[in-house]
Amino acid sequence: MDIIPVTSSSMPPLEEYLDEISELWRSRWLTNNGTKHRQLEEALKEYLSVPNITLFTNGHSALEGILEASQLVGEVITTPFTFASTTHAIVRKGLTPVMADIRPDDCTIDASQIEALITDKTVAIVPVHVYGNLCDVDAIDEIAKKYSLQVFYDAAHAFGVRRGGLGVGSFGNASMFSFHATKVFNTIEGGAVSYSDGRLGSLLNQWKNFGITGPETVEYIGGNAKMNEFAAAMGLCNLRHVDDEISRRQRITERYLANLSSIEGIRVPLQQDSRVESNYAYLPIIVQDHFPVSRDQLHDILWRESVGVRKYFYPIVSDYESYAGWFNPESTPVARAISRSVLTLPLFSDLTMSQVDMICEIVRGASTL
Ligand SMILES: *Cc1c(COP(=O)(O)O)cnc(C)c1O
Repeated sequence: MDIIPVTSSSMPPLEEYLDEISELWRSRWLTNNGTKHRQLEEALKEYLSVPNITLFTNGHSALEGILEASQLVGEVITTPFTFASTTHAIVRKGLTPVMADIRPDDCTIDASQIEALITDKTVAIVPVHVYGNLCDVDAIDEIAKKYSLQVFYDAAHAFGVRRGGLGVGSFGNASMFSFHATKVFNTIEGGAVSYSDGRLGSLLNQWKNFGITGPETVEYIGGNAKMNEFAAAMGLCNLRHVDDEISRRQRITERYLANLSSIEGIRVPLQQDSRVESNYAYLPIIVQDHFPVSRDQLHDILWRESVGVRKYFYPIVSDYESYAGWFNPESTPVARAISRSVLTLPLFSDLTMSQVDMICEIVRGASTL
């Protein structure tokens, strides 16, 4: 039996992509702020309803870019329930991560814990919109104003999420998006920063192109993190289909929720907020203590039936070997407990309703063991 993967990359019709890239054989302009790159920046500004966008070769370099452009030194409050990239970017830019715990209902930062972690060295907060769940942006904004902190969101999961007409990238000082192949919107590999202060743009562009500012001038010790034209062309194509992608994911998610709601001991940590338009990026379930089998056992049962579930995120960052001795993972007990009880189920636009039903029946079967 073929494995049902946890995700499957969305791709445009081949003809559409071939048509999009064909002019590159005439222009021979393959990277360095080409036509496709400029078109994609404009199209994304509009789609995401944000004032400024700078594209990057991936989401991680976008996050490093914004931290570097901010020119901050000191402590950054963040959470360990995330992908390696978030904490690594903070550390690689010479900043010190300080871990806050998450909320059990949606796995985003528990804003009520932030103030107690603020010291005279704190310069920023880097919260993560986990699974596309919107962080408590109002509470975070209030704290940031009170203590003059910058807020940079890891919005890698949150492409297209909106609240009350505002795009997710309008909250905080800047947001990082990932356009990796596994995300709701992809450019194969790619990423972007959205930001409110337009002056950041020139620094971001210098950081992604060796600090070169003119044919004979290099003003900054930058790196290389430019998006190429083939990636930008993939983005232009996928962007035409992203609304359809999201509504297919919505129908699949609703089917999952209807099936799972009657299974005792399974909880879904996704926000139900009528003001928020979700992007249906992931389908996480929490295997509660009173479920008859453990998370790891349910993981193995599903894999035996060729359902490619993932423990996402497990382990938490503060339990990584790379950070041994850095943090006390017990100071974030909710993050640790969630990471030990979470599974993400397959979710992609081509998943069929009968596959969803089949996956849920396996979970239901385990609930009566
Ligand atoms: C995917 C992801 C990133 C990194 O993005 P890349 O495009 O893979 O570099 C960062 N943070 C989170 C939460 C992610 O899921």
